[in-house]
Amino acid sequence: MDVFAILIRNVFFPLMELFKGNRIRKKLNILRSNQLKSRNEIENIQKEELKKLMLFCIEHVPAYKKFEHLRKKIMISPEKALLEFPILEKKEFNKNRDLYLSEKANLSECILNKTGGSTGEPVKFYIDRETVEWYEAARYLGLSWWGINIGDRCLMLWASLNDIENAKNLKDKLKELVLKNRLIISSWEINGKNIKDIAKRVQKYKPSFIYAYPSAAYKLASLLKENKIDLKLKLKGVVTTAENLYKYQKDLIEEVFRCPVINEYGARDGGIIAYQCKKGKMHLMSLTGYYEFVDIEGMEDKNKKAILVTDLHNYVMPRLRYRLGDVVTLDDEGCDCGIGFPTIKEIDGRIDEIFVAKSGEVYDSHFFNILAREMEGVLQYQLIQHDLDNMTLKIVKGKRFDEREVEQFVKSIKSKFGDISIKVDYVNEIPTGPSGKIKYTIREYKIPIMRTLLPLVKIGATMLALLSIDL
Ligand SMILES: [Zn+2]
Repeated sequence: MDVFAILIRNVFFPLMELFKGNRIRKKLNILRSNQLKSRNEIENIQKEELKKLMLFCIEHVPAYKKFEHLRKKIMISPEKALLEFPILEKKEFNKNRDLYLSEKANLSECILNKTGGSTGEPVKFYIDRETVEWYEAARYLGLSWWGINIGDRCLMLWASLNDIENAKNLKDKLKELVLKNRLIISSWEINGKNIKDIAKRVQKYKPSFIYAYPSAAYKLASLLKENKIDLKLKLKGVVTTAENLYKYQKDLIEEVFRCPVINEYGARDGGIIAYQCKKGKMHLMSLTGYYEFVDIEGMEDKNKKAILVTDLHNYVMPRLRYRLGDVVTLDDEGCDCGIGFPTIKEIDGRIDEIFVAKSGEVYDSHFFNILAREMEGVLQYQLIQHDLDNMTLKIVKGKRFDEREVEQFVKSIKSKFGDISIKVDYVNEIPTGPSGKIKYTIREYKIPIMRTLLPLVKIGATMLALLSIDL
């Protein structure tokens, strides 16, 4: 029994709610009490929330005031009225961001958040505590499907510099310990040299679940297997988030940790969008978001659509019909697990975003994404790996462009990829792919089976699966 988890759940967390006015558990209860309702009932709750949000938008959000004439339609049928609003592209939002800030927003109580630019174009936006609490409640709802509760001991494998640096100061360390009950290990720390130490730390900590980037959980699993280390943990699951989860990763993680991999689909600028249930289906979080799926120009498979998100509880900077840039495959089968939310089949991944260094080390798009966050003066970027020795970095300059940031970016890449040539090209625009999403990393050659990759190949089916997908 994890006494600390029980303390967190029943003492620390309620205390925090009391002092900070935090209402995550209350929101979680609302979601829980509605999740088993029929599809129809859930849609009705969703429409009511949508109506409330849209009426607020035409009254208090400058960008949407011009849609005042739709008031009547919103009152009668908000989902139909919504279709008369334009699809909001990231580019448009970035250009006119201030117009989306509600006149009612109190900026002193807001948090300025920023995406890592997984579409090559970072988005900055405001959120408030209320919005974050709904995101957290939606996450805990998904976790509850797997028996994971608030306060359960969590090992977090993370790569975000911000999050890790935040966790370094004492206040945050205490918060981590007292409220979140989690141990954070940076995926950059995990390597062949210190795998035994990391294994000891994890074993001593005894997490009841792991929350991780798939690439980080995969890296840890690979090294544990390679070094024949059995952590003997009793995990409820490994929750993967933030990146596409590839099958070869899922298979190895499940094999090594002997528990299910639970896929979370979320976005910094879209909240928790979908969660995997025990039957393996991705259920949309329909009580916190309204989702639309639109055709993608040039896409032959009509089951693959671009997702538009309307975050139902974001009243600080509402974005109606916001195109996240992700492609998802629709599911026409549904799920019989009892959860009333509709399902999607998968969130489409891109294997060609994985880069390989001459050393054999594999770097996924997330690695570049985090480094690129530091290039504040760059509007867009795209990195192309032509072969093991040559890359091209395309840059669209922003207003506050500073060449030193680009030099630092190139230097950081070289520190991992060795002595390679990186040609920097300044361009006016980076063309988008068929989904409208800018690919910020493109690998132009097949992943080679190199000597240095051979130990990984020994892992067997997992790495071979990666290679066979690609070849
Ligand atoms: Zn289900």
